[in-house]
Amino acid sequence: MTEESCAPAREPLPPKAAEGPYARCVLCLEPTEYAESVKGVVLCPVCEWQEAQRNACSD
Ligand SMILES: [Zn+2]
Repeated sequence: MTEESCAPAREPLPPKAAEGPYARCVLCLEPTEYAESVKGVVLCPVCEWQEAQRNACSD
């Protein structure tokens, strides 16, 4: 038996920007650690953590 992961497949996170302008979190509009030029959904550290909790195995 292989160990099954509860975490859904996720896109790899973009590299964090060393300096601004930073993209805004799509959930709370706080600045994220990612560059504004990053495409797709970007989350601030807080929302990223909350999403991780939500997606965590609740078994
Ligand atoms: Zn956020």
